[in-house]
Amino acid sequence: MGLKDLPSVDEVLKDARIQSLEEVCARNLVVQAVRDELDVLRAEILSTGNRWTREEARERVVVEVVRRLKALYNGSLRKVINATGVVLHTNLGRAPLSLETAEHIARLAQGYCNLEMDLEEGKRGSRYQHLESIILSLTGAEAALVVNNNAAAVLLVLNTLAREREVIVSRGQLVEIGGSFRIPEIMALSGAKMVEVGTTNKTYLSDFEQAVSPDTALLLAVHTSNYRIVGFTQEVPLRELVGLGCRLGLPVVQDLGSGCLIDLSPWGLTAEPTVQECIKDGVDLVTFSGDKLLGGLQAGIIVGKKHLIDAMKHNHLLRALRVDKLTIAGLEAALGCYITGEPQNRIPVLQMLTQDPAGLEITADRLCHAIREELQGQFDVRVVELNDKVGGGAYPLQELPGYGVEIAPGFDPGQLAYRLRTLEPALLPRIKEGAIIISVRTLQAGEVDLVPGLLRRAMEAL
Ligand SMILES: *Cc1c(COP(=O)(O)O)cnc(C)c1O
Repeated sequence: MGLKDLPSVDEVLKDARIQSLEEVCARNLVVQAVRDELDVLRAEILSTGNRWTREEARERVVVEVVRRLKALYNGSLRKVINATGVVLHTNLGRAPLSLETAEHIARLAQGYCNLEMDLEEGKRGSRYQHLESIILSLTGAEAALVVNNNAAAVLLVLNTLAREREVIVSRGQLVEIGGSFRIPEIMALSGAKMVEVGTTNKTYLSDFEQAVSPDTALLLAVHTSNYRIVGFTQEVPLRELVGLGCRLGLPVVQDLGSGCLIDLSPWGLTAEPTVQECIKDGVDLVTFSGDKLLGGLQAGIIVGKKHLIDAMKHNHLLRALRVDKLTIAGLEAALGCYITGEPQNRIPVLQMLTQDPAGLEITADRLCHAIREELQGQFDVRVVELNDKVGGGAYPLQELPGYGVEIAPGFDPGQLAYRLRTLEPALLPRIKEGAIIISVRTLQAGEVDLVPGLLRRAMEAL
């Protein structure tokens, strides 16, 4: 077929499938999509010389237009059942929220709220005051400020306290966190000059001391969230760095990353310092994420000395990094779960991390039976022991003993995993040689019961 035989826009618009699209999409969007798809086809014919009949060409344009517009009105975010056993899965939105937190957000989202109004006085208030008292009582800090994420928190701290001045940091702590947070880059963006001291494996207090100059604005410690340096190593303990800062009158800032607010060592998770410990050690400012171990929403929380927090409140950069009402609502509810003193029973991330392996085994047994029944004994299905992960750049070496159900389909498990990923809801399993594994740790309430049916649908589609 030559180009002149391509169907016309009007011809495509007459198709019944396109006509029914016009009930849910504005006509100009439909017409534009048809033009675009005809252009795509024209370009393809020119470049490949492919031959299409007029009918085939029309069919292909209709199918593509329907696909394109459906994606527009359905959006592309899908519910995903996380069966990977990675609790803080960055690609899956990090921390899932509890129902009560989600409901609090929904309630406030649907109407107006007192985001920036003092209802007692009937006057203008500040969005930052809603979270301040709860953060202070949980962390023991003097003052707090919440911004868009922890990257923004670090940027704001450096820009406020160290623009055009020097920041001293250990070479062993120049971290890169997934999604392109890198200490040297954030330092450059903030306008601060980075002064690296020590070596990759060893940094001493004397390295900091020798690097101090009249231009030094602060001493920075960065938590090596997603890696560990082991072997012949030396780090400067936070308390010693604070001592040096005190002697020299320089603020000490700790980028903590995870923002753990409870001691998880009773559950075998050690070596992640809590925010409270950093404050107790005398650090001037601590920055951390709202959606890692804290288990709330994407946010960056800065806590510490009041005069430093006040300086940041006066930095105009804050206007560009500010949080919206939904984040404040969600954080308020998530932090509220800590007030009872037993957040591990109410924050989903903490529930998943502190689950008793015996309980996981029972769930895996139950799921295994349900899957066997649903698949009518056609495949090799069995309970397996697993090592789950914290994820989200926290506890990189920690393995969480868990349980899962392994399904060996007898063909390429990657193909089965693809089918599962493209169902609604999507199911994301682990893949190993010859099999997929459903880890039960990261399944949320009600999801265990959905898994057998999803597996059957995926198998049927093959
Ligand atoms: C995760 C992390 C960040 C980035 O935090 P976001 O909330 O993802 O912006 C920065 N520093 C450290 C040490 C981290 O672990």
